[in-house]
Parts: sequence; structure tokens; C-alpha cells
Amino acid sequence: MTKNYSMLILPGDGIGPEVMDEVKRVIEWLGENRGLNFDISEDHVGGKAYDVYGKPLSDEALAKAKEVDAVMFGAVGGPKWAGVDYDKRPEAGLLTLRKELNLFANLRPAMCFEPLVDASSLKPELVSGLDIMILRELTGGVYFGEPRGIEDLSNGQRRGVNTQVYETYEIHRIAHVAFDLAAKRNGLVTSVEKSNVMESGLLWREEVEIIAKDYPDIKLEHMLADNCGMQLVRTPKQFDVIVTDNLFGDMLSDVAAMLTGSLGMLPSASLGEVGKGALYEPVHGSAPDIAGQGKANPIATILSFAMALRYSYDCADEAKLIEDAVNDVLADDVRTADIHQDGKMLVSTTEMGDHILNALTKLNS
Ligand code: NAD
Repeated sequence: MTKNYSMLILPGDGIGPEVMDEVKRVIEWLGENRGLNFDISEDHVGGKAYDVYGKPLSDEALAKAKEVDAVMFGAVGGPKWAGVDYDKRPEAGLLTLRKELNLFANLRPAMCFEPLVDASSLKPELVSGLDIMILRELTGGVYFGEPRGIEDLSNGQRRGVNTQVYETYEIHRIAHVAFDLAAKRNGLVTSVEKSNVMESGLLWREEVEIIAKDYPDIKLEHMLADNCGMQLVRTPKQFDVIVTDNLFGDMLSDVAAMLTGSLGMLPSASLGEVGKGALYEPVHGSAPDIAGQGKANPIATILSFAMALRYSYDCADEAKLIEDAVNDVLADDVRTADIHQDGKMLVSTTEMGDHILNALTKLNS
């Protein structure tokens, strides 16, 4: 009996719908060639949802997102909605999904495709073969801690306050994700904090060590966040899984991203408790400057879908097939504008999709 996988597709604004169209073609290909059947629902999100429903995420879309195995998200935002009320701005659609699905684990792989080694700002030998995973805690820490705010002091000064706060359960659940990921990868977790100057960092280190006892086969290392930033650009291949809090993860994942070249190549996953919420999206935004021109690189979104296959649908073989197809297309010198170099073949969004489908067919035969 063939299994049906449920998915909600939210293409969003700007280049979101264009890049998502290429994912839909890959899904169709998987149905025809690998017998994977997806029950797909689709809705608006972000500015488009505001235009249609008067809010950036409809109640129906939210209910559906909670029900399905995974949400595929494009991108939201754009100048058209710059004047919209703060709580109805396009980005609020994404924040609502993260909060309501309790997506506490943000997975940002930094993988260097061999044909793009020259696109990195680091020396080729430092990034060739690079494959690391930054795991960022997404729902706690200083971005959400109380008290927070800006207050006027009696002496005419003002004071800005944010609070870094983590509780045991938040550290334990993200640590479990880190060790589980490392078990399927190269068996090394680097836990990153500032335990030398922050009590919350000390707690983070101690609680991660407690969880490590459940995973005797995984090696655990600790690293201070400032050193980790330095090591990422010095010898990035020393890492396997880096697990860290919301603030440090925000910065370190962007540093790691740039090791690999273009924004148009970077996928991500945000996961809740197992089986209770998963959202996959490219790291890039809605790129209004190139929207509707067929210039967008669909690879980040296609690779996000590959992550969905691996983490939500237990289809690691098909995930690998897609990653290999992307690599083969890049090795054939096929490039969208964002990764184009002299002497390479410049293609549109749809043409990149065509090449990936052809590579999939070749690999599958
Ligand atoms: P952006 O990521 O949209 O674009 C930055 C630059 O990268 C642009 O020059 C763009 O053309 C290019 N780019 C991005 N993705 C590309 C792709 N797939 N192929 C080729 N080139 C690509 O960031 P921005 O310009 O700062 O923001 C634009 C809008 O997107 C804003 O409204 C912002 O709020 C929103 N945004 C949304 C998300 C999200 O939906 N998760 C994330 C970031 C920004």
C-alpha cells in the first residue's frame, strides 16, 4: 500500500511562488518516478494573505499547518506592505507559525557543493567538502525573555533591557535534537555558549552534559561563542553539529551560511516536538528586486524540500537523490544569475528546474 504524505504549501510573496513552482515539479516527479504520493493543500501567507484575508495567516491555514506532516514555506514581505499595521505585517504570518507550532529547533545546514567552492569568500581548501549543521534554539533566550523594554530614568537617561533566560526543559529538548542529528551524521556535537561570563551559559553547558549521558557514542565538545565565530572562518570542517541558543545561533548560522556562497542556495528547517510541527523554508527572503523576472534561484527551496523528505517523511534516499541532482547540475556549469560566473551557462528559474528534473531522471535510471 502506498503511503500518502500530507503537506501544506505556503508560497507567500515576491519570488516565493516562483521558487515553490519548481518544488511542485519535483514533487510531481517523485510521484511519477518514486511512487511517493503527497496530499497537498495550498494557501496564502504574508502580504498576499493580507490582501486576500486582511491578515498574514488565515485561521484555516494555521489549523492546516498544525494538522499536516510538514509545511513548505516560500518567503514573505515586500515594499507593497511597508505601511501595514505591525501585527498584520507579512512577517507576522511566519512568526505566528513558529509560535503556534512551537518550532523550537532551527536547522541550518552549511554544505558546500563542490562546483561552487570558488563562490565562498574562504580559500577553496577550507570549504571543499564542508558539511556542517547549525542547530539554533528558536523560541527562547534573549529575544523573548522578560523583563524587556526601554524605560525613562529619573536622571534623564534611558535604559534598554532584554533578558537572556533558559529553563532546563528548553535546553534538554534542543540537546536531544542535536545528539539525534549527530547520530545520523558524524557523531560530534559542539555546544556553544558564553559560560565564562553568563550564568545562563553555564546552565546550558551543565544541562547539555546531562543529556550527553544518554548518547555514549556521540562526542560532545564545548566552545565559547566568540571562539566558535573565529573557528568557523578558520577551520570550519572541524565541526559536525553545532548546538547553540537563539542569539548566538542567529549570528553563527549567518556566518556559516556565507562559507557556502549564495543566499539562493541555503535551505532550513524549523522543527517542534517530534510529529507535532515542521516548517521548511529557504533562508532568503522574498527578493522583491528580482520578483517576477525568472531570475530567482530555486535551489534553496528545493533543498528545503529535500530536508522535509529527510526529517518529516523518512525518505532519506529521495533527499539524497535531490541533493545529488543539484550537485550534478552545478557540475554541468548551469547557473542562475546569483551564482553565475564567466563561462558558465546562465539559466532562468524554470530552466534550473528543468535541469534538476533531468538530472533526477538520469540518476534514477
Ligand atoms: P532577500 O533575501 O529577499 O534578498 C537579499 C538579496 O539576495 C537580494 O538582492 C535578492 O535579489 C537576493 N536573493 C535572495 N534570494 C534569492 C534567490 N533565491 N535567487 C537569487 N537571488 C536571491 O532579503 P531582503 O532584500 O533583505 O528582504 C526582502 C524582503 O524579504 C523584505 O520584505 C524582508 O522582510 C523579507 N524577508 C523575508 C524572509 C522570510 O520570509 N523568511 C526572510 C528574510 C527577509
